[in-house]
Amino acid sequence: SQLSDGLLFFRMGDFYELFGEDAVLASRELSITLTSRDRNKPNPTPMAGVPHHSAESYIQKLLQRGYRVGIAEQTEDPSSSKGLVKREITRILTPGIQFQADSSEPRYFAVVLCHPKKHRPWTFAAMDCSAGDTYLQSYDQLPMLLSDLRNASIRHLQLPRSEAHFSKDWTPWPNTLVEHYDELILSQDKAQNLLRKHFSLANLDGFFQTPEEQWALAHLIQSVLQTQRVDHLSHLKLPQPLHQAKHMRLGPVTPDHLDLFEKSEGGLALFTLLSSRLSQIPTSMGQRRLRQWIRAPLADSFAIAERQSCVKALMDQPAPATILRGAIRTLYDLERIMGRITTRSASPRDTLALAQSLGTLPTILPALSAYPSNETLRGYAQMLHSVWQEVSTLVQSLTSLQIQPAPAHCREGRVFSKGFHAELDRLIDLTDNAESLLVEMEQAEKRRSGIPSLKIRYNRVFGYSIEITKTHLASVPDNYIRKQSMANAERFITPELKALEEEVLSAQMKRVELEKNLFEDLLQKLDGLGAPLSQAATVFSHLDCLLGFAQLAEQPLWRFPKIDTSLDLSIHKGRHPMVAAQVGGAFIPNSVELLRNEASTLLITGPNMGGKSTLMRQVALIILLGQMGAPVPAESAQWGVVSSIYTRMGGQDAITKGQSTFMVEMSELAHLLHYSDERSFLVLDEIGRGTSTYDGISVAWSTLEWITQKLRARTLFATHYHELVALETQVPGIRNAHLSVEESKESLRFLYELRPGPTGDSYGIQVAALAGLPSSVIQRSWQILQKLETQGTQKKGTRHEGPRQLAFF
Ligand code: ATP
Repeated sequence: SQLSDGLLFFRMGDFYELFGEDAVLASRELSITLTSRDRNKPNPTPMAGVPHHSAESYIQKLLQRGYRVGIAEQTEDPSSSKGLVKREITRILTPGIQFQADSSEPRYFAVVLCHPKKHRPWTFAAMDCSAGDTYLQSYDQLPMLLSDLRNASIRHLQLPRSEAHFSKDWTPWPNTLVEHYDELILSQDKAQNLLRKHFSLANLDGFFQTPEEQWALAHLIQSVLQTQRVDHLSHLKLPQPLHQAKHMRLGPVTPDHLDLFEKSEGGLALFTLLSSRLSQIPTSMGQRRLRQWIRAPLADSFAIAERQSCVKALMDQPAPATILRGAIRTLYDLERIMGRITTRSASPRDTLALAQSLGTLPTILPALSAYPSNETLRGYAQMLHSVWQEVSTLVQSLTSLQIQPAPAHCREGRVFSKGFHAELDRLIDLTDNAESLLVEMEQAEKRRSGIPSLKIRYNRVFGYSIEITKTHLASVPDNYIRKQSMANAERFITPELKALEEEVLSAQMKRVELEKNLFEDLLQKLDGLGAPLSQAATVFSHLDCLLGFAQLAEQPLWRFPKIDTSLDLSIHKGRHPMVAAQVGGAFIPNSVELLRNEASTLLITGPNMGGKSTLMRQVALIILLGQMGAPVPAESAQWGVVSSIYTRMGGQDAITKGQSTFMVEMSELAHLLHYSDERSFLVLDEIGRGTSTYDGISVAWSTLEWITQKLRARTLFATHYHELVALETQVPGIRNAHLSVEESKESLRFLYELRPGPTGDSYGIQVAALAGLPSSVIQRSWQILQKLETQGTQKKGTRHEGPRQLAFF
């Protein structure tokens, strides 16, 4: 009943078994054998099982595919219970509520609340349970919420059932668990108490803008507490707004258009480029931070300058930076380890990894103190210094007293070595030195009795005994108790030997028991350090990214842009970071200038394949990189801070959502025109091409007018409607530019160079020929084109003499 849907792993001896439909599904998803219980009865129950020691990897597979999994453990000792051993569901895991697998990607568990009568009816809360990050945002409009949902790495989402229409507008990632709830699991009063307790806050107002935000986050926390059977999550960080005014907003499809993150069909993404190719961000914490920075670059010129100054400081003094890099490279994923500690699912490997990671602080601290004049780095040093003060004793004791390599679990003990705990020392002596204790006793008894042949022997039935040959029976001491007679000898025990035997035999058990308790205590202690440790993890993740940026800035022709408060943009010899990385020296750099008082919109024409999309993406990526505080691939760059980037490019069908290509294009354009402002940067590629020529031109034309005259946002607008180039003379603020091409009789050579003024042709038929269309189709195309040009447009001159214009200009 606790697991209304999802697969139940039921512990039976050394296996976890699944039954019924769960078994059928698991056997299919996990490729495990399907058997059945009560095979001889009619309708036997399907059954499938996995060994308990490898269950974790099977569970991971199911979570990755979007399933919910419950784990029922035996909650009493099978040897002491009569009849059926009691079992209970001890953990419920979902794709968004999980703690074991480390991953450089965030995994959000999220909930949406809807209160239609409120000023901002939509509330969104998300948390990465194991890393401890929490986010909140309220919305007055659904499209903004949908756009954020699309951009967050949500793995488990709960939506209000009453808002069923909502999910129709939103297609979740594959492998995301989406559920509909009737009501939240806590009352609003209880929600407040829970938050006060969790964040040690008397007043919640500073961190929550509305009661619904409190309610939403408390719901997430309570769900995790219930599914993990714990009463506190000490590693949670205070909630952040998902979008802060000081962060740049990206349109819902912009990350896809700009190839920011990995795509299923491959290709180099910005994240991949930054994290591997040109620079190195080695830790999982750093990788998650980098994703966050890419998703939400800064939109505040001071904050950008501060981040740049950190990177520059690290570059100015490379020796300590190299030390920092070396130390940070060795860090384990502290955030996820803390998540396991707080839910008590951490292993001895985790505690040792935590201690070893924190053990780098004595190397990191002096290296960081080499940057006293940088405020941020100084703050990091102070913060880490106080963490070190708090944890140093524990860290030193763990790194020296945890047995290495650490076992994957503490079921069989062997976690701590001697010196960790007095009683454990004795038990370790007893188990490890049982032999020598017995030898010592044998020697003592030999001396006491004067019998040189006296031996202590072990027998499975009688345990330990003292064996004395018949010739020496007369010298047997008084306190020996006869146990067994044999042909040549007799066996005796003494109370001391019995006591030692009991100790030796039970020591192993006691040692395991004590180690389990000590490990529990250790987790408790570490859990108590949740707040400083998660702060340290945050600092490590920032340092990791900043050091990565410093490496990037050392690459030839990567420069820091100058970002001010103007509304201009000027990039000199910029390159597309991913395309340039792929084509190497063959890449042609381009310069782009958009000046508020001259032209804020660049209308780009040029041949198909001429490099228009590459150029537009390149400018957007340079802005995004620069506002992350990173260097950019350009000889120089300057712009006024950009508050949002909206793009409309390419033509993906959304047939699954029941939308045509043109409808998708128009919806994306609608979103862009609604939400952008004069600080936005817009990229529009071939607006209107999905419908008839006149309809398309009309939409493109009016969009251009609106953007340039009303919005005045900096815009790159590429088109094959050459008719539009005449707008340069009619609408102030529009400037023509084109990507050049060299045409000869036989061939077409793309120069990829942006030049002022319009071009007269798209060279569509030549490009079609290059793509390998049958020559008869190409020839016929030329004939048709000629006919159209002479009949339809009453064009003056021939097709190579300047832009074609429609009659209505
Ligand atoms: P279409 O109008 O057909 O969509 P396009 O003008 O948008 O074409 P792109 O897709 O930007 O053209 O570029 C086509 C290819 O040209 C790119 O995949 C890249 O390999 C190459 N290319 C683009 N820009 C450059 C450049 N500046 N230097 C070198 N190669 C480039």
